[in-house]
Amino acid sequence: MIWHPPRVYQGQAVWLHLRGVREDATVEGAIGGRPLRLFPYAGGQAAVVGFDLETKPGPQAWRIAVLEPGRDPRTLTGSLRLHRREFPVQRLTVAPGMVDLDPETERRAVAESERLQTLFRMTTAERLWRGRFVLPMAGKEPGTGFGARRVINGKPRSPHGGTDYPAPVGTPVVVANAGRVAAVGEHFFPGRLVIVDHGLGLYTLYFHLDQVAVAAGDRVDRGQPLGTVGATGRVTGPNLHFGVQVGPARVDPASLLSLDVRD
Ligand SMILES: [Zn+2]
Repeated sequence: MIWHPPRVYQGQAVWLHLRGVREDATVEGAIGGRPLRLFPYAGGQAAVVGFDLETKPGPQAWRIAVLEPGRDPRTLTGSLRLHRREFPVQRLTVAPGMVDLDPETERRAVAESERLQTLFRMTTAERLWRGRFVLPMAGKEPGTGFGARRVINGKPRSPHGGTDYPAPVGTPVVVANAGRVAAVGEHFFPGRLVIVDHGLGLYTLYFHLDQVAVAAGDRVDRGQPLGTVGATGRVTGPNLHFGVQVGPARVDPASLLSLDVRD
């Protein structure tokens, strides 16, 4: 049982590699009360596990049941310590209409957010991705703002669930890994958006797009153009907001990009 990396923080995606369990084993497990989505990998089993940026630090109990042909069923248990991460505070000023919403707009924004939450709870049974995830945009600008506690026009708001990559309007955006386009839409805060389902509960999110080059249901490959950077939705300037969901957990895209997966 190996965790990569071994030290785990709030808002992080980690890689769990279970060795000594055959690829054809039936495995089922949970951590912190949420199901583990294991798949055959390198002569064993593996899973991508995500801890939401607001999950309380502390021990996360895990349990995995293993059923292998010709052997008695086994149950493995243990605990992983989730460490606290200090997130920055970000003060922003945006147009008042983008923060003090009229009731109709408020209802729209809430309904859109709930639709996305529902989507992230759906789990495609098959793993659609392979190998490493790539940054969806070329450029020198390091992304910023993951997990930032946001104070917008002087009022505290919910933390920032993704990373922002500032770039000129029209800069190409590509898919981070293979998957299926789960949603294309126009939402109030995210603007023009694309969401890619990579299977087993893993999703990547691309917000504030100008042009979109894919349609819902399309199969997509790593590096395939999905659209261009824009300034749609609530932005302070043109940027790509790149987000990663492992089920309902919002995780730092940098942690997904750094997973050393070889297949
Ligand atoms: Zn953002």
